[in-house]
Amino acid sequence: MNSSLNYYFALARSKESKHQNILRDLKHLLKSLGVSEATVTLEDQYNLSAEEILKINTFFSSYLAGIPFDYILNESEFMGHKFFVDSRVLIPRPETELIVEWVLDLSLNKNSKIFEVGTGSGCIAISICLKDEDLKILAADISDSALEVAQINQELHNARNVTFMQSSWLTCSAENSLDLVISNPPYIKPNDPHLKNLNHEPLIALTSKDGSESFFQIASQAIFSLKLGGKIIFEHGYSQAEEVTNILKDIGFKNIVTCKDFQGLDRYTYANK
Ligand code: GLN
Repeated sequence: MNSSLNYYFALARSKESKHQNILRDLKHLLKSLGVSEATVTLEDQYNLSAEEILKINTFFSSYLAGIPFDYILNESEFMGHKFFVDSRVLIPRPETELIVEWVLDLSLNKNSKIFEVGTGSGCIAISICLKDEDLKILAADISDSALEVAQINQELHNARNVTFMQSSWLTCSAENSLDLVISNPPYIKPNDPHLKNLNHEPLIALTSKDGSESFFQIASQAIFSLKLGGKIIFEHGYSQAEEVTNILKDIGFKNIVTCKDFQGLDRYTYANK
């Protein structure tokens, strides 16, 4: 057993050709274990405890097996907050922050009825309520195990204004009751080759028949659940703007607008009932 930090820095460097960010992520892990910023940055001599060595060895075996770093760390950053994540939920994507910002820009009032469909880790609903403490959100997921993670995040952030519940899409909501429906649903085609890079994340959160059935099902339910004039917003794949627009139009939504993400790719579409 090697107790020198330098040994692990050298090990990480030797794996960089295949695992580009391994040294950066090892340094992040060390800081999260309480090793000082200076020691990590300067790669100073430091004697690791047995517990630290165990964690570092687990980091290497998981990382080299392709497990995403956020799952190894059990932590993911979203909207400047740290969320607990494990393989029960999707790792939050930076582009999803645009949905949160769009909702905050609506300046909804405290009586607005907001429903998030397919909440997963809860990061969207919790971030909205942390930024605007007046808002209340009902956030649902069909997966009980995802809801367990959402609950952990609710406690972590003391986000009392989010109510989590189990529901298949919007089935638990009443007719003409909502002002806003938010969803980042599964939207990848089950045969998409991109999925082989996502094989540690829950498939239920990623794939939908034809990549678009989720939009159709959610929008079909939302047209009943929303009040007249209420809004819906979907995150979608960069090539799905036209399909999502047509689904929304066919179901009866109006004022349909698509926006781009940081990379200039079509990423979310919103509309009015
Ligand atoms: N944006 C994610 C990805 O491409 C997928 C998230 C989703 O299906 N909602 O990895």
